[in-house]
Amino acid sequence: MVEDIRELIKKHALLNAISYGGKANSKAVIGKILAEKEELRSKIKEILPLVEEIVNEVNKLSLEEQLKMVNYPVSLKSKEEKKILPPLPKAEKGKVVTRFPPEPSGYLHIGHAKAAIIDHEYARMYDGKFILRFDDTNPVNAKIEYYEAIKEDLIWLGVKPDIIENTSDDLERLYYYAERLIEKGFAYVCLCDPETIKLNRMKGMECNCRKSSFEVNLERWEKMFKEYSRNEAILRFKGNMKSLNTVMRDPTLFRIIEEEHPLKGNKYRVWPTYDFAAPVKDSLDGVTHALRTKEYELRDELYFSILKALELREPILIEFSRLEMKGSVLSKRKIREMISKGLVSGWDDPRLATLRALKRRGYQPEAIKEFILSLGVSKVESEPTWDLINSINRKIIDPKAKRLFFVSEPVKVKLEGFPLKKVKLRYHPDRDLGEREIEITESLFISKEDFESIREGEKIRLMDLGNFTIKEDKLLFDGFELDHKLKKFHWVNGKALDLKVLFPLEDRLIKGKVEDNFQNLNIGDIVQFVRFGFCKIDSKDEVIFLHK
Ligand SMILES: [Zn+2]
Repeated sequence: MVEDIRELIKKHALLNAISYGGKANSKAVIGKILAEKEELRSKIKEILPLVEEIVNEVNKLSLEEQLKMVNYPVSLKSKEEKKILPPLPKAEKGKVVTRFPPEPSGYLHIGHAKAAIIDHEYARMYDGKFILRFDDTNPVNAKIEYYEAIKEDLIWLGVKPDIIENTSDDLERLYYYAERLIEKGFAYVCLCDPETIKLNRMKGMECNCRKSSFEVNLERWEKMFKEYSRNEAILRFKGNMKSLNTVMRDPTLFRIIEEEHPLKGNKYRVWPTYDFAAPVKDSLDGVTHALRTKEYELRDELYFSILKALELREPILIEFSRLEMKGSVLSKRKIREMISKGLVSGWDDPRLATLRALKRRGYQPEAIKEFILSLGVSKVESEPTWDLINSINRKIIDPKAKRLFFVSEPVKVKLEGFPLKKVKLRYHPDRDLGEREIEITESLFISKEDFESIREGEKIRLMDLGNFTIKEDKLLFDGFELDHKLKKFHWVNGKALDLKVLFPLEDRLIKGKVEDNFQNLNIGDIVQFVRFGFCKIDSKDEVIFLHK
């Protein structure tokens, strides 16, 4: 019995030690023991000395020795618990294929990043493949600039595709499958005008085109490539015009668009819709798990109906909630509109939530990834605030960002009796980021807010400088000794430079003065202005506020 108890204590002491870097805690160990053997609660007084003895023994061992002694399954808990995604259904190691299918009609925003990161992460988790597929079957929207930007932004995000492909490269095959659908009686060419089609869909009414034989349909299909013009003919899936799921009311599979395509020029005029291209390409490309956002849920029935009709392999469809960020526009169409109206300066305008804008504001790709993974793949709608991503980003940049003084709404104060001509200050309180020198000029600047908070005759501390007593607009030197009770102010000297700070989410610009060491930093650097927050240097005289 005693041996059993010894063994039990040893097990929990070892497990606890291993979880906390090699040192076990007696109290935690007792908690674990009682959780496992409730009946020992009454004997706690007798066990206590034994626990302490064993914990002491265990703590004398190195972590390596402790690990060797553990014959129990151990789950090592690291301090930064890595976020992992829930397992995929029916997934086999080495065989999972996922895809991210953006339309090259704009730059990626954080909502796209969610899909791309999840798809990529699953492929890595199962040693599978990740496909980047440009869903470029609407030549009106597609632009070379967007294909390139999407690739660059994914690289920045750390999302590396194993295969990059364009749906527009596969049109011949998609035509082939369209013809199979027509032959099997699952698709027909509709010659009704768009208004009639819309009305019939609403009313659940079939048109006469639906009754044509497959020979007639094949003939009309051929004519879509030569004779018919836009809006004269479309290829429709023969679904169910009375279906409660209106997506199934004979949706469009192909339409005529005569616009020049950025990659294909004028080679094609009959273009598939997403509804047709997505399931067929997923199946042909070997995609095992197709993930998409929840607003496609009603289209699932169509996705599988098309594959069934064509007797093609069916991938597993998984839906997750779309990412909305509080206070941010995440629609490519709306952003395009804002740009064309001049409301924002471009796709990287810091007021947007495109990846370009986030990069420009100072968000780190690792922070975006950790943020996305922390949201998981649930279907529950959530609208996370910026606080969450900010706290992750702060952890990453804090050790790397140099500290500087910036004073907003500066008020000039005269300095009297200060004995030093210059001071040397560290760029970071506890990392070795070097030092900077600040000349002590006759007058300094402190912020208006700080200035107004002091009473005549009050003693305050200027950070890293000394104590001062205020008399009118003068600061009289009053010793160096640290006194934590004093109000602490940051300051800049008389040579400080003018600087603007943009608050992108509030669309507000403030002015102030930054210490002249600022000019030694580079555009693109992230700095922390003491008592103000982290900022990204956007130009020689303007920074973008990132977060506190
Ligand atoms: Zn019709």
